[in-house]
Amino acid sequence: MTATPYIPSGGLTGKLVRMNARLRARKPMQFELGKPLVSITFDDFPRSAALTGRSMIEERGWRGTWYASCDFIDSTTHHGAMMSAGDLTSLDAAGHEIACHTLSHTDSARMPLPELLTQIDQNADAARSAGLTRAFTNFAYPFGEASPQAKTALMSRFDTLRGVRPGVNRTGDDLALLKAVGLDGGDTGIAKVLGWIEDAVASPGWLILYAHDIQERPTEWGCTPQEFKQVLDAVAASGADVLTVRDAVARLSA
Ligand SMILES: [Zn+2]
Repeated sequence: MTATPYIPSGGLTGKLVRMNARLRARKPMQFELGKPLVSITFDDFPRSAALTGRSMIEERGWRGTWYASCDFIDSTTHHGAMMSAGDLTSLDAAGHEIACHTLSHTDSARMPLPELLTQIDQNADAARSAGLTRAFTNFAYPFGEASPQAKTALMSRFDTLRGVRPGVNRTGDDLALLKAVGLDGGDTGIAKVLGWIEDAVASPGWLILYAHDIQERPTEWGCTPQEFKQVLDAVAASGADVLTVRDAVARLSA
């Protein structure tokens, strides 16, 4: 048995907290692109992504960004079996980026700031214990839940902070709360993802995708290998450059 998944507060309170986080402590980007830039990212992350997802993007010569919550190493969650220490080091050695997602995947908007910073230090320690030698330079908020205080504090530690609000990042958008599109929701969800890819082509921007489990019977936060392939095919057809978040940031700030 695994624990019931945590769901952040919804309703009006949740909406106001999220709006406040969006509007404050912003770090707007400035860039122009002649063609779309896509980053394929993975959250938490399940073994099904580290096996199936990884091989499917590597077949195309691409690399991804893997937001790790190191407490999940060798554990089982509602997503199924989670990554191993060996997944972290082998992804890193193959040119993927391992990024930070807090140690135990706790809601950053509801946690006192000192606790959040401790969680981030502990995640870095756990990644080093797992054999990772390269430091984290990018972060994703668990559940996408940010606060102005967390944004300000974390921007002094990371190059980017990613949320889960869907959209294409363009000039004026916020490095401290990057938009990202989830690969979930079945046919309807995947149709929306394809729509965002078209949007990134129509007016070139930086589209960040994020996946959870990739398996034949996915959770509501996951997708099937066939759906994942459909998205990768559309990314390839778009002519986008596909870069890790780390490399995308370097490209955009050049
Ligand atoms: Zn997560």
